Amino acid sequence: MKTVLIAGGNVIDGTGSAPQTNTDVLIKGDRIIGVGKNLSIDPADSASCEKIDATGLTVMPGLIDAHVHVTLGEPRTNDELFMHRDAPTSAILAAYNVRKILKAGVTSMLDVDGIFNIGPALRDSINAGIVEGPTMRSGSYALMTAVGGTAGKLIPDSGTAGYAEVVRNKEEMVLAVRRQVKEGADIIKIHVTGSIPTRSGEIQVWTRDELKVVCDTAHDLGVRVTAHCRGDKATLDAVMAGVDIIWHASFLGDAALEAIIDKKVPVGPVFTFLANLSEYGHKAGATSTAKSIFAGELEHTGAKLREAYDAGVKLLSGSESGFSMTPYGHWHAREMEVFVQHLGLTPLQAITCATKDNAVALDEDGETGCISSGYRADVLILDGDPSKNVSLLGDKSKFRYLYCRGKQVDLSPMPPRSLFRGEQTSSWSDVALTREIALS
Ligand SMILES: [Zn+2]
Repeated sequence: MKTVLIAGGNVIDGTGSAPQTNTDVLIKGDRIIGVGKNLSIDPADSASCEKIDATGLTVMPGLIDAHVHVTLGEPRTNDELFMHRDAPTSAILAAYNVRKILKAGVTSMLDVDGIFNIGPALRDSINAGIVEGPTMRSGSYALMTAVGGTAGKLIPDSGTAGYAEVVRNKEEMVLAVRRQVKEGADIIKIHVTGSIPTRSGEIQVWTRDELKVVCDTAHDLGVRVTAHCRGDKATLDAVMAGVDIIWHASFLGDAALEAIIDKKVPVGPVFTFLANLSEYGHKAGATSTAKSIFAGELEHTGAKLREAYDAGVKLLSGSESGFSMTPYGHWHAREMEVFVQHLGLTPLQAITCATKDNAVALDEDGETGCISSGYRADVLILDGDPSKNVSLLGDKSKFRYLYCRGKQVDLSPMPPRSLFRGEQTSSWSDVALTREIALS
């Protein structure tokens, strides 16, 4: 087995401890086997040992992204995602896009839900060495009631569409969970709230009883459940029903907060999508309403989540990568920035969210996310000190070396590609060509 000595770096170990200067990290095969000053190498390994001089560089765990949608292919609209995707092309594209995520320093990720059940196949392809990518855990379709999800009328009354699988009653909920587990899902995703064209905001579209049916069925099979909850009561019901990870937890109230703290359910706010829309949306031609939505969510939810964090609840760092506002390989460190800027975490605390604590999202606590003996050799080496400026972790030009499962990753940029025919929807115009516009 190959041995690599990463010598003399400043080690951020992922636990929140202060960086250790002039520290060696020793890798053998896919494991970290030593961390400390002036490590000695087993004589049997020393001849073939590769040495990396990390003097002046930061050595830290590879990033973990707890909320990715690798199969969606960066759609600009739900129409594109629900009406213009086919399974073979989407699968091939996902195999290309997952490498972008790896090259952005992400060595593990949870793909929460996706289209055509591609996620589990991609995970298996990575494990088999067919596709290069981060260690992956994958959901399948997101379970929705026929009332709606996040795509309004595009959610059908039954069956699957886009990333949605509609379950109309408790019997179908049981069947869908069992089938998804059979087809390789590591986790079951529920959209507890959804948008309906005639109503504003997202409303709760599951009962607590129904949520419990999904949780009980999945848990009996040893599979965890995760839930999209943009609403206070939705969050409370999901936690009480036994959901293992909550996303968004928007507009969290006291009862739901108490339940989260009581059960220590990890929460991923996934602010990145809104933060990007709000801060940079205008540069990508997005509408400006996002600014107020983001401000509202932060104001209502940010302070409550900070309370949860202070009470020992794990805040997960997820990027929502997969949409046009969150393309692959660009925003995996953005959530840490939001945690620092808006929730008042220190950069080191935010790094722990995206490393040690995020391992929990993959059910890999103790396996990855730390620079420590026995952990998987997922190691990022970069120029600069992210414990002072966490934004450095979004700047790939600072990355010097990356090891994923003990293998060095080629950090050179991805070859460019062109669009597939029909990949994006096209429109005749941005606005209707009235006579007034034509003649103005
Ligand atoms: Zn998502």
